[in-house]
Amino acid sequence: MKRGLKLFGKILLVIIIILVINFIPVFRKQDSQMVLRENEYFSFYYNETDEGAEDVYDLALNEAPRIIDALGLDEVDKLTIYLYEDQTQMQSKYIGFVAYVADLPWFIGGAAQNNIVMVSPATPNEQHDYDSILETILHEIGHAYNYQLNSNMNLWLDEGMAMVLAGQGDDHTPKDGIGMVIPTHTEINQVTTLNFHKINGYFYARQYADYLIDTYGYDTWLQLITTNDYQTTYNKSQEDIYNEWHEYILEAQNN
Ligand SMILES: [Zn+2]
Repeated sequence: MKRGLKLFGKILLVIIIILVINFIPVFRKQDSQMVLRENEYFSFYYNETDEGAEDVYDLALNEAPRIIDALGLDEVDKLTIYLYEDQTQMQSKYIGFVAYVADLPWFIGGAAQNNIVMVSPATPNEQHDYDSILETILHEIGHAYNYQLNSNMNLWLDEGMAMVLAGQGDDHTPKDGIGMVIPTHTEINQVTTLNFHKINGYFYARQYADYLIDTYGYDTWLQLITTNDYQTTYNKSQEDIYNEWHEYILEAQNN
């Protein structure tokens, strides 16, 4: 028994060491050659060779006030944005060294609290072009300010609102989702950042936000994302709202 415990302790220690080593890049986001530009909204770290850096900086600075206003925030904490020319390096700053063995071509940016990491739009990508990478900065800024509104925002709502704030999918209708499986009620509650795209989350979370905003208004939508509380906001359970939305999508796609 004692020997079993000792072995268990050793295995646990090895796992902890591996995890600590894995996350080293996450705690070292700023590379030595990076330069810094500052403004009242964010600190911006980038490589001087990066030909996409200026566009990212300008777009973020121009749009930050609009995003803050859209969330009804009076005061905000300053953000830090790190822009990388290498996509896998960027990913390692978010999920650790494991990025070098994971294959995540769709993963171009991430926000954790007030920190944003993003790959440069000037870096070629098999799934995104310059403009779609560029607009991702607004999506990530959306997440960062969502966090300031509600540090425990439900992931499904958080993603939907980040899309709204970035203007991603503005011209999509439910019909654009024909052929894409609609995530189930269980899936929208259990989904994580890393498998969000697998349940067609980016399309349907935006559709979900649009449905709630169009049906019940923007103010109640803000109340929902601030509280995660469907019952108080809509006087309906989350499942009732999901079912309503699901029916609406099916009807729109079949007519
Ligand atoms: Zn997102």
